[in-house]
Amino acid sequence: MISNPLMFAAISDFSGVTRGKAFPLKDMEKRFRQGVGWTPTNVQITCFDTIADSPFGSFGDLILVPDADTAVTLDLEDGGPVERFVLGDILGLDGVPWSCCTRSILKQALKRLEDVAGLRLVAAFEHEFQTRNKIAGPGEAFGLASFGKHRQFGEAVMAALDIAGVKPDTFLKEYGTDQFEVTNGPDLGVTAADTAVKVRAVTRLVGERMGQPVTFVPIRDPAGVGNGVHVHMSFVDENGAPATYDPDAPWGMAKKTASFIAGILKYMDSIVALTAPSAISYMRLTPHRWSAAFNNLGYHDREAAVRICPVTSASADSAARQYNFEYRAADATASPYLVLAALVHAGAQGIEEGLAAPEVTEEDLSELSPAALAERGFVRLPQSLEEALGRLCANDLVARWIGHEAVETYVKHKRGELAHTAALNETERCALYETVY
Ligand code: GLU
Ligand code: MG
Repeated sequence: MISNPLMFAAISDFSGVTRGKAFPLKDMEKRFRQGVGWTPTNVQITCFDTIADSPFGSFGDLILVPDADTAVTLDLEDGGPVERFVLGDILGLDGVPWSCCTRSILKQALKRLEDVAGLRLVAAFEHEFQTRNKIAGPGEAFGLASFGKHRQFGEAVMAALDIAGVKPDTFLKEYGTDQFEVTNGPDLGVTAADTAVKVRAVTRLVGERMGQPVTFVPIRDPAGVGNGVHVHMSFVDENGAPATYDPDAPWGMAKKTASFIAGILKYMDSIVALTAPSAISYMRLTPHRWSAAFNNLGYHDREAAVRICPVTSASADSAARQYNFEYRAADATASPYLVLAALVHAGAQGIEEGLAAPEVTEEDLSELSPAALAERGFVRLPQSLEEALGRLCANDLVARWIGHEAVETYVKHKRGELAHTAALNETERCALYETVY
């Protein structure tokens, strides 16, 4: 068949969906400079392709400008077309970042962290997903036999990630029915979020091509296991030296690390609408699902909202380089750019406020009474998206970090999404979200 190869310029917007426009590859030089036209109201296209209440209406013009460093060219060598996409920023016609551009919002957050603390963020997103074809039976969790059945799929995903410039780390048959997990090495700053977008796109593509379509839906069945996105974070200083760890401090948390984590926990109930942003995300954020239900810090504890991860003497890397902490209350309905922006702003705020190291919990908080929780400064995280949006709106600080126009528009977007699912029961909602993510 004749073909004029196309490059797809993409963003991950408020819906967490990767959207964009394609142009002929031969025009790449021009398009990388000028971008492609974009429309403000596109940001109000919900994950269900409805248009939520838009402050922009039919007005306005923007440009989506690709960042050449993110370009992916992927030939799966299966006889199918070569996939080409590139991530970018949404700018005004004057070249100024647009208020609702998620990638620009993250860049501003990272700049704030550098300004207030001299720290640069290093991060990696860990993704769980399930195959849409129901293929598993009992005895599959972490099993060699079940892994063997999916080895070819796993090896194709890892090869494709490598080609896409992602550093594939592990691939596993997770605990849940038809559930897998893919992890990758860390990246600096905005690249970490670019990588998360690539991991989702590439895993999906390989799954489609192999007749094994996948879903990153936060929860597929109200009684089943969730698909989490866990965000690993650490810091380096201006010279690239590790700056997260202090061997002499409690739990190894350097002073700024402690304040950063304390900031995330202090503001967590106001930012969770940005990290777990769907109508079904809150079915996953319940006790005993190994996700997060309270704003607590745990040591090696997979029920804590933030977990200090292990370091091992068996690694060639020093403890200072391995040391990282993990935010567990995110899922793949969120744009990775907004997830990181919210975490970085909350953490930078914690550093600005000089917050003390948070208590490290080593117990099941769901067994404590509300009074005991309150006494120790713990809150139960919002239990629905409506509630989470309410807390986001109630905290003007978040709008000051992210921008008032962005937050107001985001809230309208999410309320439009909620209206679309209002008449459905939990099982129907999960099924609907599964068709999108
Ligand atoms: N599936 C869990 C989640 O929803 C995470 C399990 C794990 O610790 O890997 O976050
Ligand atoms: Mg996992």
